[in-house]
Amino acid sequence: MLERIRIVLIGTSHPGNIGGVARAMHNMGLADLALVAPRCEVITQDSISRASGADHLLHQATVHPTLEDAVADCTLAVGASARSRTLPWPIISPRELAERLPSECQPQNARVALVFGREDSGLTNAELQRCHAHVHIPTNADFSSLNLAAAVQVIAYECRMAWLSQEDTASTAQEEGDDALATHVELERYFEHLERALIAIEFHDPAQPRQLMARLRRLYLRARPEKMEMNILRGILSATEKAADQRQP
Ligand code: SAH
Repeated sequence: MLERIRIVLIGTSHPGNIGGVARAMHNMGLADLALVAPRCEVITQDSISRASGADHLLHQATVHPTLEDAVADCTLAVGASARSRTLPWPIISPRELAERLPSECQPQNARVALVFGREDSGLTNAELQRCHAHVHIPTNADFSSLNLAAAVQVIAYECRMAWLSQEDTASTAQEEGDDALATHVELERYFEHLERALIAIEFHDPAQPRQLMARLRRLYLRARPEKMEMNILRGILSATEKAADQRQP
């Protein structure tokens, strides 16, 4: 999912900010950086220093003359805006955006562009109108504009959180597969084996059962054993039977 997310910066004027964006992206596992008509040099001492070890993202960044060119292959474009604009457009929060990402990134050709504006004037209305939706980081209404790299950091963090929870769900499903519960037949086989072993070691007398097997059944059924646990218990029974056999005079 993360490899399908492109960060697009339009008309950035400070190399340090581009470096800061590269660092924020690499921290969150994003790597696709596209620069539209940057108003400064990209690889400078300042950008490399602010990238703090993520300067490979600067070297592999693509440079485009226009927004259209940078997002030509994208199936969703979302513009990040600090201010509300005259023409109402669908506005979402970073979290709402991130929640949409797993399904947006699913199709084979999916590519999502997250578009950020100039430090001094943001995105133009024409640029915002090329986006499907606008994402606004909820901020103090009297001081709403974040530093460019900070804005990318917040949105990239939400992308990562959405990706992590998707990974969590996938690995839980995987674990559930590995730790499948024992079936009815497996449990019944176990109870038969248990009874045989308990008789062999003379713990259980079928002539005087005293509800022993019923009580043990209740105990094991309450535990909802997994297949693998059932195998361990069966192994213990076999070893017990073998030890009892060897002790016979
Ligand atoms: N002074 C500009 C904002 C520049 S900040 C203005 O008034 O529009 C540079 C970029 O960071 C913005 O274009 C936007 O893409 C992003 N950004 C800053 N603050 C943001 C916020 N609160 N929500 C969403 N994006 C924000």
